[in-house]
Amino acid sequence: MGMSRDKERYRRQLLIDGWGDEAQGKVAQSSVTVVGAGGLGSAALLYLAAAGVGRIRIIDSDELALSNLNRQVLYGDRYIDGKKAEHAAARLSELNPDIEVEALPTRLTAENIEQHLPAEGLLVDCLDNFETRFLLNRHAVKHGLPLVHAGVEGMYGQLTCVFPGETPCLECLFSSSKGSLHAALPREIPVLGAAVGTMGCLQALEALKIITGLGTTLRNRLLVFDGLHARFDEVEIKRDSRCAVCAP
Ligand SMILES: [Zn+2]
Repeated sequence: MGMSRDKERYRRQLLIDGWGDEAQGKVAQSSVTVVGAGGLGSAALLYLAAAGVGRIRIIDSDELALSNLNRQVLYGDRYIDGKKAEHAAARLSELNPDIEVEALPTRLTAENIEQHLPAEGLLVDCLDNFETRFLLNRHAVKHGLPLVHAGVEGMYGQLTCVFPGETPCLECLFSSSKGSLHAALPREIPVLGAAVGTMGCLQALEALKIITGLGTTLRNRLLVFDGLHARFDEVEIKRDSRCAVCAP
C-alpha cells in the first residue's frame, strides 16, 4: 500500500471539506467489527471497506440462502450455501486489497463473546435478532466502545450511535426484560433490500464520522426512517437511570 496509491484510491473523499490526509489516516488506523453480514451488513461493509477502514472484522455464522438475495447484495447466486462471513471477506478484499479483513463464521454467545470481539475499536450492529444485539450492547458498555445500531422491518428503519456512559445504550432503549418489541416480531421479518441498504449505508457514514471526528453523529438521537412515505424523523432519547447494563 503506497501513499500515491492511497491518494488515488481515496482522491474523491480527500476532496471533502475537512477530510484530507489526517482524517484518511485515522480511517486507515481504525478497526471496525461488523456483527451480522446480512442486509445491513452488506451495505455497511462495502462502504467501510471502500472508504479505507484499516481493519474490518466480520462476524456471522450463517450460510447464504436464496431468500437472502433480495437484500444481501454483497453476495451472488453462486454463493448459496456458503459461509457468509467468508464470502463477505473475499468480496471486500476484492474491492480494497489494501485493508485487512478477517472473517469469523461464529455465533456469538455470552460464553465466547470476549474471545471473538475485540476490547477496542468500533462496533457496528447489523444484527437481525435482539438476543445477540443485547450481548453486543453489553460488550460495548463493558469496554466503553462506540456502537452504531440499526434495525429494520419492512420499509422502515431506525438508527442511533451508542457512546457508553454518555448516551442511552440499547438496553436503555429496548429493555431486554420487557420483551414486547422482540417477542412480537414474527420469526421471519419482512424486509425490502433498498430500505435495509439505506440504513446500512447510514451506519457506515456514522462509523466514518466517529472515526474521523467530522460532523455530528446520532448522539442521544434515534433516527427513524419511513421508506414507504420517504420520511426521516428523529426522536430525542435519554438514558435509563436504572438501566441494568449501563447505569452507574
Ligand atoms: Zn443502558
